[in-house]
Amino acid sequence: MAGPSEADWAAAVAAVRDLPEDPEVLLICHVNPDGDALGSMLGFGLGLRRLGIRRLQATFPGPPEVPEPLRGLPGAELLVPADRVYPAPDLMICFDAASESRLGELLGRLDTAGTSVVLDHHASNTRFGAVHVVDPAAAATSVVAEELLDRLGVPLDAAIAECFYVALATDTGSFRFAATTPAVHLMAARLLATGIDPGVISRRIFDTRPFGAVRLYGDVLGRARLEPASAAGLGLVWTYATLDDLTRHDQRPYVLEPLIDSVRCAAEADVSCVVKQIAPGEWAVSMRSKGRVDVSRVAVALGGGGHRFAAGFTGRGTADEVVDRIREQLDGAVISDDSEGCRPSGRA
Ligand code: AMP
Ligand code: MN
Ligand code: MN
Repeated sequence: MAGPSEADWAAAVAAVRDLPEDPEVLLICHVNPDGDALGSMLGFGLGLRRLGIRRLQATFPGPPEVPEPLRGLPGAELLVPADRVYPAPDLMICFDAASESRLGELLGRLDTAGTSVVLDHHASNTRFGAVHVVDPAAAATSVVAEELLDRLGVPLDAAIAECFYVALATDTGSFRFAATTPAVHLMAARLLATGIDPGVISRRIFDTRPFGAVRLYGDVLGRARLEPASAAGLGLVWTYATLDDLTRHDQRPYVLEPLIDSVRCAAEADVSCVVKQIAPGEWAVSMRSKGRVDVSRVAVALGGGGHRFAAGFTGRGTADEVVDRIREQLDGAVISDDSEGCRPSGRA
């Protein structure tokens, strides 16, 4: 999919500029929000504040729980539980959501809002709004959000920059993945120039978890399995975590997010996967590929989405049944050597 056209940018600028007097604006990011979803949304929200927009809410569907490390983000005061948001805002803006299903119970706002703008970077974006600024080449949704603020004439300040930095660092794996282009480092430089402290921010967001999480990681990584024959012989490594694991160690679900990075280390497997129980018989699945397999094909076939080398879906049944379904899809997701762009991005 091509990136946004000048007409797309102009339509997004107009959607903000042409708002009526004292408008209601609703910002929504995807369910189970990560650093890019919350960071791009709250950073953009702070930018809209600078434009004088007063009636402004930020939200996400599902349980209204923000992962502990992201609770201190600037702009968090804009957050409102999903059941208390404007029923018919003048403008709704969606962040980091590849499809309408990621809006959960807030989907209906697309019909009641005066207009809607979709800011995203998923190639699989289904273009479910009225105006779309979707750039699959962008490393994070915050890249798109920063440019839109710039086009609206809002300068960066430290609060906006902290939000966008968290988003950018999250989706580039702290500037390790192949999506870390010169443009990403130039954006990071603009953000750091506002005076934010990357050491403090990174420690809080990525390197601070309760001791119970460390013990939980031991249990979950200890049961990882390697299947060299899966994915047409390219190999699969996977593990799972249950609600009982969380309860036993008195932990919240967000602590499971970094586990995929430990599992995907296994050199013997191209594909890695962590199956995380979110309710009885329901699992959030994270998949990664080192480059030979397009895991977004697997995810889309199983009702989810994502990027070529980082994708996910919601699975039902037992963990073994969920992994069976992944195995069935993997052979068909191997990228042939002559297909274009066969480079791992690892981005989320
Ligand atoms: P995660 O493993 O949660 O970091 O997600 C990796 C990528 O897969 C992200 O870019 C998400 O957009 C996408 N993804 C994860 N879960 C889902 C889902 N249930 N539906 C659609 N996309 C998903
Ligand atoms: Mn995301
Ligand atoms: Mn993202």
